[in-house]
Amino acid sequence: MAKVNSSSPRNILLLPGDGIGHEIMAEAEKLLNFLMQKTALDLTISTGAVGGAAIDQFGEPLPSSVLMQAKHADAILLGAVGGPKWEALDIAKRPEKALLGLRSSLELFANLRPAILAEPLMAASSLKPDLVSNLDILIIRELTGGIYFGQPRGVSIENGERVGLNTYRYNETEIKRIAHVAFKAAQKRNKRLCSVDKANVLEVTELWREVLNEVAEEYPDVELTHMYVDNAAMQLVRQPKQFDVVVTGNMFGDILSDIAAMLTGSIGMLPSASLDVNGKGMFEPVHGSAPDIAGQGKANPLAMLLSVAMMFRYSFNDHNTANLIEQAVTNTLAQGLRTADLSENDTYATTSEMGDSVIASLEKLLG
Ligand code: NAD
Repeated sequence: MAKVNSSSPRNILLLPGDGIGHEIMAEAEKLLNFLMQKTALDLTISTGAVGGAAIDQFGEPLPSSVLMQAKHADAILLGAVGGPKWEALDIAKRPEKALLGLRSSLELFANLRPAILAEPLMAASSLKPDLVSNLDILIIRELTGGIYFGQPRGVSIENGERVGLNTYRYNETEIKRIAHVAFKAAQKRNKRLCSVDKANVLEVTELWREVLNEVAEEYPDVELTHMYVDNAAMQLVRQPKQFDVVVTGNMFGDILSDIAAMLTGSIGMLPSASLDVNGKGMFEPVHGSAPDIAGQGKANPLAMLLSVAMMFRYSFNDHNTANLIEQAVTNTLAQGLRTADLSENDTYATTSEMGDSVIASLEKLLG
């Protein structure tokens, strides 16, 4: 019989957001309530509005009261934000600003995206089974620096024509702190770290490579390799299993993690963690608010439930509960249950049926 140990009290903030965010968060909340009833876990749950829901209620995507709640929470679970209703708004006022605001205010600089293929879903991958069976890659993306944040930026007029400008910038401190996260993650896995850059062209990534080599001296048990980003994109679809942990900057990580996502079948399966220097984090599915299926019971809640598992693993250091949730998801899929995105025919489980089934699998594991 599996056991979950008692724990110190944890304060978890739920931010469902928009679209299917509400539906998948309802399943996460059911799972947390179940864990509280059946185990000695001591969790306090509160909720807040972000994204379009907060714009409708408070006129802004990230109200200061919610940011304050987030600062006081031990961990944050986020559904997804955005949707057509708010697309006409000025870019600075759109729902997606809530994400950037949370990430930068809480200094969530390390984004961890595991790409793990659940064996029962092998057929859903875009690659051949032998290339992806037992696939388990961890992509670590720097999240609060690089070209997405560098100044100066903008569009101006020069010599009578429009000129667009962004600045790709990293300082040593930013590179070092993400490097330490990546080496530590590799130590807990197969001890192989591949750093992805474009050091043959961009000076900023030449510095990235130099700093990675310096930090590597503190982790002699981890094998560090370097790869140019264009090659990494190709290798991810050619021989994905050559990778264990991949670390890269903000923009390259954005692109490579979406490539890795497709290897696993459905975007509805992929969780992520965004951590600060102390391991406090925000956990969310990789996908968006899926307005095309919102309110129809078609959303796959598994990326959200696997994000709950990541919260236990990375913020609460509770690997046991994380493993149990992940095993419950695998067992549910092995029984053949599929949401609409995974189903190969017209029959599918609704969002809440899938959530209930994961809880039933967890109950069996707890004995
Ligand atoms: P999306 O990820 O919402 O949807 C892409 C496709 O995947 C859609 O066909 C959708 O139905 C499907 N899909 C996504 N999640 C699913 C799930 N759990 N189960 C089943 N199918 C799922 O991306 P999009 O359509 O480009 O964006 C929609 C909105 O979400 C936009 O407003 C965008 O800005 C926002 N967005 C938010 C986040 C976030 O909150 N982190 C991330 C990406 C996009």
